[in-house]
Amino acid sequence: MLQYLIVDGHCDSILDVYNGKKSLALQNNIGHLDFFRLQNNVNLQFMAFFVESHHKPYNTLYNVLELIDLLNEEISKVNFVQKVLTQKDLESFSPASVKILLTIEGGDCLGGSIRILRNLFNLGIRCLTLTWNNRNELGDGCGEEPHGSGLSQFGKNVVKEMNNLGMLVDVSHLAEKGFWDVLDTTGKPIIASHSCCKSICNHPRNLSDLQLKALAQNDGLIGINFYPPFLKDKPQEVTIDDIVKHIVYASEVMGPEHVGLGSDFDGIDQVPQGLEDVSKLPFLIEKLERVGFSSKEIANIMGYNYLRVLKKVLPDD
Ligand SMILES: [Zn+2]
Repeated sequence: MLQYLIVDGHCDSILDVYNGKKSLALQNNIGHLDFFRLQNNVNLQFMAFFVESHHKPYNTLYNVLELIDLLNEEISKVNFVQKVLTQKDLESFSPASVKILLTIEGGDCLGGSIRILRNLFNLGIRCLTLTWNNRNELGDGCGEEPHGSGLSQFGKNVVKEMNNLGMLVDVSHLAEKGFWDVLDTTGKPIIASHSCCKSICNHPRNLSDLQLKALAQNDGLIGINFYPPFLKDKPQEVTIDDIVKHIVYASEVMGPEHVGLGSDFDGIDQVPQGLEDVSKLPFLIEKLERVGFSSKEIANIMGYNYLRVLKKVLPDD
């Protein structure tokens, strides 16, 4: 049973449904999660619409629209999954029910149009990861490093409009210059939904101490990613303890009120030993207790930090 409220800021599971690997609405052991495995393990799961490279650039929005409908269809097959659209949807949680927050991984699908952003908001999207690793109309992804540029004027306009609409800005995957541009532009807390600490593992997808501190100053958070190559230089050796190391380190740099989870489940082809799928999350709680976090700190890391940020960002009703 859930002792803590648990929020996970990133998974790519809908892609497995799209590619015919599984249904989220059927109990199974394929990949890392489905609606039934989320029950009693996660209260609020961010579900990302990730557009595979072969759909880009011309079919990006088409693919996102297909994925949104596919997730709606999956949700309609069960009676215990609800979408989070407003702050009211964050008021009550029960272990038997699962809430889902719809997020898009990469602003490529906007095609340079704020009107598309507003349409996607109206379809229930509440978070946008501004870029994936590639460059798009908003700015450069971290795949363009070491010479990645910052946000375009359109990218800045998107951040401002997301603030107005009540959408959470996600800077995971963004090149570093863009990260600083987002912080200069946003009037609301932002997140890095699925990244790790660069000081422990020097990977372009991870954040430096300066970035972590700036995220904390913005009252935002980092969701620690479970992908072994982001956790340790020797990914084949990664265990659940390496996730704990990143959580401890980020908490020391930022304060534990700015740290959360961003599993990247079903978007990663390797998993840490001891945290092979979502049903293993209770073991992470045990580990956090063992390294000395208080129960209040654990509650914040496992979920309340995300709720605090969402309550500052999502629309009232
Ligand atoms: Zn990602």
